Amino acid sequence: MTQLQNLYQFDVLVVGAGAAGLYTALCLPSKLKVGLITKNTVALSASDWAQGGIAAAIAPEDSPLLHIEDTIKAGAGLCDEAAVEFLAKLAPSCIQSLVNMGVAFDRRDNQLALTLEAAHSRHRVLHAADTTGREVITTLTAQVLHHPNIQVIPQTLALNLWLEPQTGSCQGISVVYQDRVIWIRAKAVILATGGGGQVFAHTTNPVVSTGDGVAIAHRAGATLRDLEFVQFHPTALTVPGANSFLISEAVRGEGAHLVDDTGRRFAFDYHPQGELAPRDIVSRAIYSHLQSTPNPATANVWLDLRPIPPEKIHRRFPNIIQVCQRWGIDVFSQPIPVAPAAHYWMGGIVTDLMNRTSIPGLYAVGETASTGVHGANRLASNSLLECIVFGAQMATLQVEEEAIKNDSGLIEPLSFTLSESNLLFQQTKLEEIRQELPRLVWQSAGICREEKVLESAIAQIEMWQQEFANLPLSQFILNLPPARAASFGLKETHQQLWLWGETRNLLDIADLILKSALFRTESRGGHYRQDYPQTEPHWQAHTLVKQDKLWKSQLEK
Ligand SMILES: Cc1cc2nc3c(=O)[nH]c(=O)nc-3n(C[C@H](O)[C@H](O)[C@H](O)COP(=O)(O)OP(=O)(O)OC[C@H]3O[C@@H](n4cnc5c(N)ncnc54)[C@H](O)[C@@H]3O)c2cc1C
Repeated sequence: MTQLQNLYQFDVLVVGAGAAGLYTALCLPSKLKVGLITKNTVALSASDWAQGGIAAAIAPEDSPLLHIEDTIKAGAGLCDEAAVEFLAKLAPSCIQSLVNMGVAFDRRDNQLALTLEAAHSRHRVLHAADTTGREVITTLTAQVLHHPNIQVIPQTLALNLWLEPQTGSCQGISVVYQDRVIWIRAKAVILATGGGGQVFAHTTNPVVSTGDGVAIAHRAGATLRDLEFVQFHPTALTVPGANSFLISEAVRGEGAHLVDDTGRRFAFDYHPQGELAPRDIVSRAIYSHLQSTPNPATANVWLDLRPIPPEKIHRRFPNIIQVCQRWGIDVFSQPIPVAPAAHYWMGGIVTDLMNRTSIPGLYAVGETASTGVHGANRLASNSLLECIVFGAQMATLQVEEEAIKNDSGLIEPLSFTLSESNLLFQQTKLEEIRQELPRLVWQSAGICREEKVLESAIAQIEMWQQEFANLPLSQFILNLPPARAASFGLKETHQQLWLWGETRNLLDIADLILKSALFRTESRGGHYRQDYPQTEPHWQAHTLVKQDKLWKSQLEK
């Protein structure tokens, strides 16, 4: 087990061990002492679950210019063109770097195999069967473990940034480690905490995706952008207990049909590209199509793989075959029941091409960042790519040479205890919020949104935030002086602190998503308002948030 004394200071602290965190840690100058924390094990992340692949214009008939065009088209007027250009042009060299590290992408005739995904104009998606993310993460993890300058610290939950009072720059972070709150000093902190799908009742994201980076950066006063834009994946498995397991876009790319109960390919009623239209359109098509069923909330449509040659299904989708089999579905003889689920959060912490946020010393990479490459809607397979291309930028990070201060963790920790009855009350309240909140956000800020429903959901969230702030544990942790560690005489301390920390973040991001969704009175990309169904030219602008201010940027060209 990692010794507590070793934890207190690093040159750079990377928070998160998905593709963004691992690749960033590997790219940082090797003379720096790097801490890499993750709240779970290194094996659990959205990156590990990525199936379809990673996009790069490497085919002779393709070019970065076409990749740029497709990305900007999907982004519905809100992409940052410089960021997209940067992403698409660096994609081929980043793929090469992954191959050099040992990532075994599928090959055909000894060339890297490429597949087509929705809204890509060319075959451009590299893959490793249907477990591309696992292949990437396994390789990156092995590399990280061989880097002596990187110390991996699992089961450590980042709580709050630690800002220098005079300059406002980031000097570290507070975390829950074992049964304590401790403070880690670092000259630079890099948030790579991934998305926030768990704020929705139906999501393809793993349990760790609770929007922590966005919530942490927000509380410290960083500027955030476009939090209303959430991509709903059209095809998540709907069998009870299957946790909205994703049935990859690539399945439709290879020829699967999306059909209703009568076997009709209804997606063509909504868009000429049918099931290969952009994700938001296919998700809304399913949503609308199901409204006429007796119980739209639990109804499903079907994904029929039988048009794909069985040999190809075996070769391309072994994991999907296996998971479906586990739920009693034989994809070779019957269609898969599917419905939309929250999948990817386009919004995040505003960053520039060097991953700098608006707080000096704080950086963000991956899904938690808003680099501008996805605009209002992400093009499939561009997100793993974003983790790698932007992570590579950290190779040029410079931090001050001076020795880091060794002041934290040396003072006796403050201790917190609670009577059995108060403990029970607190636990019950936290569990109640944790259960109810995703349902509320799914109903109010899911695929279709509307003013009145959003307003009433915001009122409920604010009430929960107040109740949360009044809990004894909140009162104690929120008033902890900077650099002062804390210990807890609680039953099952670790679980209590985790539940507390994640619930706090989920409340914060729910509030931010709902308020941003209410603010944008139009429909665009991953944000659809039933009461404002049109895309409005005067809304070709970003939603920006900084503390309790929310405003619209200048119009994009
Ligand atoms: C099922 C699924 C399939 C997908 N398929 C594809 C695909 O084919 N192609 C593609 O490009 N994209 C795909 N995506 C999206 C893509 O996987 C993610 O956008 C991307 O992997 C995000 O990487 P990340 O490193 O930013 O975050 P993640 O991979 O989610 O990693 C986040 C890390 O941060 C840690 N963490 C979070 N909060 C804290 C905290 N408070 N303290 C400490 N650690 C913390 C987590 O434990 C985890 O280690 C898919 C997503 C899902 C869910």
